[in-house]
Amino acid sequence: PVIQKIEEAGFVAYFVGGSVRDTILKKPISDVDIATSAFPEEIKAIFPRTVDVGIEHGTVMVLWQKEEYEITTFRTESTYQDFRRPDEVTFVRSLEEDLKRRDFTVNALAMSRDGEIIDYFDGLVDLNKGIIKAVGSATERFHEDALRMMRGVRFVSQLDFTLEAKTEAAIMEHHALLEKIAVERVQVEFIKLLLGKGRSQATIKLIETELYQYCPGLRKHGEGLYRYADLSGELPDSLTAWTLLVYFIQLDNQSIDAFMREWKCSKKAIQEVEVAKRALDFRLTTGWSKEQLYHTGLEIAVAVEKMHALLTGESDLAALETHYKNLPIHNKKQLKVTGNELIATLNRQPGIWLGELLVEIEREVLIGRLSNQTEAILSWAK
Ligand code: ATP
Repeated sequence: PVIQKIEEAGFVAYFVGGSVRDTILKKPISDVDIATSAFPEEIKAIFPRTVDVGIEHGTVMVLWQKEEYEITTFRTESTYQDFRRPDEVTFVRSLEEDLKRRDFTVNALAMSRDGEIIDYFDGLVDLNKGIIKAVGSATERFHEDALRMMRGVRFVSQLDFTLEAKTEAAIMEHHALLEKIAVERVQVEFIKLLLGKGRSQATIKLIETELYQYCPGLRKHGEGLYRYADLSGELPDSLTAWTLLVYFIQLDNQSIDAFMREWKCSKKAIQEVEVAKRALDFRLTTGWSKEQLYHTGLEIAVAVEKMHALLTGESDLAALETHYKNLPIHNKKQLKVTGNELIATLNRQPGIWLGELLVEIEREVLIGRLSNQTEAILSWAK
């Protein structure tokens, strides 16, 4: 219906990017992107509820029947500075121009409102073959935006695809350009790589193309990365992924903080990985003691069990949960009382996400840091 509205106003609009790719692959779709010939102001005139999420890049978020749609005006490549994104964007009225600036052929497909696929760069062929191939000249594309090299390897992981030969050769040749890219942006791609189904293959590509030399803290760890790639099995979440990575590249517990800080990970993420890594070490040599479990908290304990299962092939999650639930400290009544008071505080303090706060508090209680719970929680909530 959104595309229809745009068309009724005299413009063209298509689904583009990951949502088209994932629809064809029959994978779950994360977000729906629409590209259009209409300029942002024209989109805002069509829809009553819009949010300027990135208007300087031509993107407007449209809220329509409780759904959100990112609608971006067709753009073309414009001047790049220092191998980063263009500072200015040039809007165009042609879909083909817009698809031409996209990174890989499988990401350069568009789909009309009635499901017709528009495919200027043989993206469908590559999708069927399972190939990540740059649109046009890989060398030029990586010079325009060096992050694309990292994105290529993360799609190898996420889609379980392989790199097309010329694309791979171009990464091998131009890997050093990645140094110019902000770590935060590289981290986003790296986490997706760690979580992807083909992460083993992708990690090997990271080494073979020597791109890892330009990833924060990985330079010295080629061998460790091979160990990491060797490991099989599903990785359920980013806590597990990071913890196994630091385990296999054999970082000692003192070095985790510095390593993850290089990746610009949050303090909370670093702490979680540190706890999980210590718990994993412990679990691999002995087994859970009551205290160990008590100091770890359920989420981390479960993640550690999963890692343990990956590494040794044995694990007993059900027993762990029962054991945890029977610990005296895990007292539902206590938590409920503090919860009520907490809600009262939250009503006075909008903007705090209750779920996250409760998890946090549960952990604080679990690790025994909260002595006088009510008071401490209330002051913490403030
Ligand atoms: P997912 O949502 O699964 O992470 P995605 O393909 O939607 O995958 P995004 O990073 O959200 O990934 O990018 C959306 C689309 O924008 C891509 O499919 C691609 O067409 C285009 N794109 C994103 N980043 C770049 C880039 N650096 N260079 C060229 N095109 C890009």
